Amino acid sequence: MPERMSIGQARRAEALGRQVLLQGWVRTRRDSKAGFSFLELNDGSCLGNIQVIAPAELDNYESEIKHLTAGASVSIEGVVKESPGKGQATEVEAARVVVHGTADPENYPLQKKRHSFEFLRTIAHLRPRTNTFGAIARVRNCVCNSIHQFFQEEGFLYIHTPVITASDCEGAGEMFQVTTLDLADPPKDGPRVDFSQDFFDRPAYLTVSGQLEAEIFACGLSKAYTFGPTFRAENSNTARHLAEFWMVEPEMAFCNLEDDMALAERLLKRIFADVLEKCPEDMDFFNQRIDKTTIETLRHIVDSQFVRLPYTEAVEILSASGESFEFPVAWGNDLQSEHERFLTEKHFRCPVIVHDYPRTIKPFYMRVNDDGRTVRAMDVLVPKVGEIIGGSQREERLDVLRERMLEQELNPDDYWWYLELRKYGTVPHAGFGLGLERVVQFITGMANIRDVIPFPRTPGSAEF
Ligand code: ATP
Ligand code: MN
Repeated sequence: MPERMSIGQARRAEALGRQVLLQGWVRTRRDSKAGFSFLELNDGSCLGNIQVIAPAELDNYESEIKHLTAGASVSIEGVVKESPGKGQATEVEAARVVVHGTADPENYPLQKKRHSFEFLRTIAHLRPRTNTFGAIARVRNCVCNSIHQFFQEEGFLYIHTPVITASDCEGAGEMFQVTTLDLADPPKDGPRVDFSQDFFDRPAYLTVSGQLEAEIFACGLSKAYTFGPTFRAENSNTARHLAEFWMVEPEMAFCNLEDDMALAERLLKRIFADVLEKCPEDMDFFNQRIDKTTIETLRHIVDSQFVRLPYTEAVEILSASGESFEFPVAWGNDLQSEHERFLTEKHFRCPVIVHDYPRTIKPFYMRVNDDGRTVRAMDVLVPKVGEIIGGSQREERLDVLRERMLEQELNPDDYWWYLELRKYGTVPHAGFGLGLERVVQFITGMANIRDVIPFPRTPGSAEF
């Protein structure tokens, strides 16, 4: 019986001499005049293909093998041999080739030429079979694994926060509503829709963040993190925004903003180091084909210290920069993407953590500083992508928190449970949100965030 193995395993020298069963999809077929065919086979276990030699003596050689084209699926039994070819240690001499499915070359959309990423988005059901999307899937998987390992080693509990929520975490988030009401004929209470007759007896939404619920667990179990899908109905058609994305949100009790920034820096460095170590072949591919600086940038970041920069100083640097920005720089304005990129790409040339932002531009739950004008917020900015993490120390003082809610026109009664965390055994605590796709975008150098999530959801687009 041949040993079933992945192409990644069969490509290694340790596989030499073994009788194997390999299964995958044909990338190319070439026929030699010497009476055999070469098949390049890929199964997604690694970037590289394995070369299969199919001799003319195989009984389905003329009937099937000589008709194989890109996209066909096959099982191969044979022996792993040393390859005389360059760039590969091994190849497989086939004793049996079973064809599972053909792929008509007249119609199969993935031909050997390079396809644009825009085109590949229209065939998201086939793009995992390309080199680029295979590599993205493996890197994304590595990043997720690294995130879980990091938090487990640091003693955090992985908790699951709800996807459906009745509270609007940011106070200003644009949310997708969840309803079972008949939209053509909703029940009315006067001129307004009567949501007391809706499924949850009130309006409900898809969550924009699991933070408030993560705080509940941190304020009792000390360290917790969530890692799940997050939804924003913002109609921003940018290369950095999705309507559905994955967010990692750690929350720590008895911690302040300095601890929070240190955690963010450790986490990012760990992710980058793991990807460099565990996905070298995929990273070489991105470095050659997508962004020639990515490996060097990641290596540099792993060894460097992130800059910590108070917002007020950031405004001074931007004002004195002599750059002509589209959006005005002034104390009290939020930093725009162009400002963030100037700081991290041009001024410091490394990740920058901007902290202590004006209270007026940040949500109610961030801790107010003694100056009364700023809050303990921080954003981690990286080149190309801009903001990759947003976090803060949370307001743990009941009276200040209630005042901040009123200031932002939120009804404290809607957040009674959140306020009780401050009423009973309140503690200083802090946390942040890391956008998974922004991380994968940064690592791979992919220009558009729609290409680093398997099935992107954006305004006007929810195919697949
Ligand atoms: P931005 O200013 O870039 O729109 P934000 O300040 O609204 O982001 P936060 O609410 O701070 O974002 O969310 C935490 C993290 O989640 C961000 O730092 C980013 O990495 C990620 N993120 C936020 N919105 C999106 C989105 N629409 N698509 C993908 N990732 C996002
Ligand atoms: Mn933010």
